[in-house]
Parts: sequence; C-alpha cells; structure tokens
Amino acid sequence: MGRIAVTGGKGGTGKSTVATALAYELAKKHKVLLVDADVDCPNDHLLLSIERKHLKTVEQRIPKWDMGKCTKCGACGKACKNNAIVSIKGSSPIFMESQCNGCGACNIVCPSSAIAWGSKEIGKVFSGKKGNIDFLSGELKANQPVSEFIVNSLNEEIEKINGNYEYIIIDTAAGTHCPVISAVNCADSVIAVTEPTPLGAHDLEIILQLLSKLGKKCSIVLNRADIGMKGQIEGLASKYRAGIAMEIPFSMGIVGSYSKGEPISIPNIALLAGKK
Ligand code: SF4
Ligand code: SF4
Repeated sequence: MGRIAVTGGKGGTGKSTVATALAYELAKKHKVLLVDADVDCPNDHLLLSIERKHLKTVEQRIPKWDMGKCTKCGACGKACKNNAIVSIKGSSPIFMESQCNGCGACNIVCPSSAIAWGSKEIGKVFSGKKGNIDFLSGELKANQPVSEFIVNSLNEEIEKINGNYEYIIIDTAAGTHCPVISAVNCADSVIAVTEPTPLGAHDLEIILQLLSKLGKKCSIVLNRADIGMKGQIEGLASKYRAGIAMEIPFSMGIVGSYSKGEPISIPNIALLAGKK
C-alpha cells in the first residue's frame, strides 16, 4: 500500500519518534517493515527495544598498492580530493584508509598500473522484530566517510522483501545529503517532521526545497507544536503546498515511553498513512 519516508531537515525534531509510532500503530492491522536508514546514528531499535541481529557486513573498495610497480611519480596523491594519499614525487605514497571513499581517481591516474582494489568494512545491516513490526537497520562504522553505501545496501534488502509488506516506513537521516535523497527517492510519500522554532523552520525549508526539486509530495508533522510560534511553519506549508498533516503537542507521556524504550503511542498517527 505504500512506502513512506519520514524525514526532516534538522536532527532532534522527533523524526524517529514519528517513524516508530507510525510503524507501531500500522502494525496493529497491517504487515509493516520499519527501516532505520539514519545510518550515522540509528536509534529506532532503542526506541522500540528491538534486539538487532547481524544480517550483513557492508564493504567499500579501497586502493591497494603494488610498490614494486610504483615509480613514485606523485600523481595519485594529487588526484585524491579526499586527502587520503600523501604522495610526493620521489617518495612512496602513504595511504590513510579512513579518508578513502573509493572514488577510483588514484587508480585511473596511475601511469604504472600500481594500484589495484581491495576492500574495507564500513558498516553493517541488522534485522530485528517487535511484535508485528519487521525491522531493518543500517549502521556506519565510526570514522567512515560514505554513509550512502549503507543506505544503498538497505535499499537492496528492501527490494528483496518489499512484496511481503503493506507498509514500509523508512526513517531517514536528517539533512539533505545523498543518503536522504536516496531514501526519499524510492518512497511513495514523504513526511517531514519539524518543530515550531526558528531553527526548525529554517531546516524545514531546506528539506521542502529538496522535495520540491525531486517532485515528491510532502506532509508536515509539527512536533511539540505547543512550545513555540507556529506562524513560520504554517507560512512554509502554504509556500510549498505541503500541508500540516498533524500537530503533536509536547507530552510527558511520550518522554516517559522514550526513556523506557517502550513503543510510543500517538493518537490518530495512522492517519498519516491514510489509515485509521
Ligand atoms: S579511491 Fe579516491 S578517495 Fe580513495 S585513495 Fe583513491 S583517489 Fe583517494
Ligand atoms: S600514481 Fe602510481 S606510480 Fe605514481 S606514485 Fe601513485 S602509485 Fe606510484
């Protein structure tokens, strides 16, 4: 019935709260897959007390040098825009693996075919279950530069099993970088979670601009709706024809569930998926 991306320009607005609460409510009547694609900082499993099980390791290619072939020309260091190679003419290249995003420029420019490919682990994909919710979660290893490889790996897993589900809820990272674009691009509808603060409005506008460029319809969820000024958010909703689909007031009940790792119940949240 639908793939719904829950996103937001700013972290800490309640994106994961909305994604997990929506999944929890829909799973009372439907087959639901919840995907935590906030791979830099996944926390849906903590919110729902899901024990994650390792599903697969995600690797990225990295260059491997054959120093017997290297003529110490320095070209690979100049070509690397990530500063992963220190290479001065006349000296052997020094490689800093954690900086490498596998772009391949060093391999292309090497005149001596001294650079082949190896691989490094950059993260993991986990699976889990909570009641009727099936769960996937990606996690980038610390100090690795490319989170979209983990999101792509999650997307591959989703494609294998998507026929089993009526709803797939994807909790994206905050912001507008590549992993977010990758997650919202394959969604049928997008929910942008924000809060009534100047920072919330600023970051909401950035995500609404992105969604507008991608041609994606968006509903806004205004979290902690009673703590600030709603006028700015209402203005943006009107400007981008997004519509405020739901206002969630600040609630100690939500804070309590959050702190205990219990599923959060938000009245009528299933309406966001067009369901009661
Ligand atoms: S693959 Fe790209 S990022 Fe990695 S070392 Fe080579 S040029 Fe640098
Ligand atoms: S480009 Fe090739 S030959 Fe030149 S320093 Fe790098 S590895 Fe050595």
